[in-house]
Amino acid sequence: MTIWTDRTAATRPVTLTLAGTGGIDRAAHHRMDEAWLAAAWSHPTTRVFVVSGGQALIEDKEDGSTELVMMPSFDAPFTEAHRYFLGIDGDGVRYFALQKDSLPGRMDAVARSAGLREAGVLLSDRDAELMTHAVGLENWQRTHRFCSRCGERTVIAAAGHIRRCQACGAEHYPRTDPAAIMLVTDDKDRALLGRQVHWPEGRFSTLAGFVEPGESIEAAVVREVAEEAGVAVGEVAYVGSQPWPFPSSLMLGFMAHATSPDIQVDGDEIEEARWFSRDELRTAIETGEVLPPSGISIAARLVELWYGEPLPRPLPQG
Ligand SMILES: [Zn+2]
Repeated sequence: MTIWTDRTAATRPVTLTLAGTGGIDRAAHHRMDEAWLAAAWSHPTTRVFVVSGGQALIEDKEDGSTELVMMPSFDAPFTEAHRYFLGIDGDGVRYFALQKDSLPGRMDAVARSAGLREAGVLLSDRDAELMTHAVGLENWQRTHRFCSRCGERTVIAAAGHIRRCQACGAEHYPRTDPAAIMLVTDDKDRALLGRQVHWPEGRFSTLAGFVEPGESIEAAVVREVAEEAGVAVGEVAYVGSQPWPFPSSLMLGFMAHATSPDIQVDGDEIEEARWFSRDELRTAIETGEVLPPSGISIAARLVELWYGEPLPRPLPQG
């Protein structure tokens, strides 16, 4: 696979800060070891947080940082049927998530519930990685309570990482759906951004789409750009990936080069697509005409990699 390198500054390494860099060892070999899990759970340094409906409690600290609200296991509302083992950090601390129907109340009212889109921006890499793992498992567990082979009930196993059918013995593993997300450039080094039919007015972002059965990820990039924007793409280069558990995607980011600037949007998924030079994009963002991708999304990182620096903000109007 071709790996993308920055053409405008070939000596500068491309760095992507994406979820999955938090230094957690998932220690998968412990997942089937009930004695080890029981000992790890009851260890005084073990930390537990609750995940519910994709939300967890977060708390702003006095030093300006934001943390997941975690507790020792003896304070946790334990039910074995909803316990996920997430891994071990560099200090040997073991982390578990408990999936509950609701988040626990807190008397101090300092903590608040947040989903990953908000929390992912605020949390440390470690906490963001733990929450992403837990939310991904929860999304999968929630929708795989029945065996896809025989239709009987499945039960949780491997500390949250398997569901096992008690009727036919089938083991079901968490599902991840690969999706291609790509920033397309042309011979003038302009970027192709599109807007989906249901997006808020002015929102433009990279094109994206799911990989189909029997298809390589590179072929999916070419196909999606052709389908959504009618643009022919030649060179395709991989940049980096991002887990996106909404509900179960893995976004695989690419830079792609158009062989022709001609645009013909499908009008179905994408209602408009435009080429932007850096100056045009800056002006469009500053005037509020364009709302670029933001937050933790790999779309924002891809656009910034092309733009060469963090994207500007809208200027105050008036
Ligand atoms: Zn079955």
